[in-house]
Amino acid sequence: MTTDTLTLYIDRLRADGSEEIEVTLSPEFLDTGERELRFASPVHAELEAYLADETLVIRLSAEAEALIPCKICNNETSVPIVLSDLYTTVSFEEIHGGLYHCLPLLRELILLEVPAFVECNEGLCPSREEIKQYLKKEGDRKAESQQPFKDL
Ligand SMILES: [Zn+2]
Repeated sequence: MTTDTLTLYIDRLRADGSEEIEVTLSPEFLDTGERELRFASPVHAELEAYLADETLVIRLSAEAEALIPCKICNNETSVPIVLSDLYTTVSFEEIHGGLYHCLPLLRELILLEVPAFVECNEGLCPSREEIKQYLKKEGDRKAESQQPFKDL
């Protein structure tokens, strides 16, 4: 579960043409410090890299699992995060010392896929009914106040 395996060496790519890497990573690298976003299970990632002109091209697929509180009942909910064949290009100007670490890229792409709101039970939170009743009552009150002259 070492993260060094996600380092690409430009010289090696020049010699071999392309490189494919498949790894399972411990999820700590995804830690954001946010209480409402956790990653507990291992992250599986596959990448292919090759050079095109003065550019490094990376094709990346990954699977991770985010744990986020349901927006209605607050129960921690598992959300699968799937990246499939995302292409990233990195110009040689951004590459220093002949190597490129893919881990920050992987982290960024996974975090971008994390939804802002999550509802448990595949979008049918059992607490939804309670909330609906509450909302309905609110709505009724509103309707009443919008007819200020109805008693005249
Ligand atoms: Zn819920």
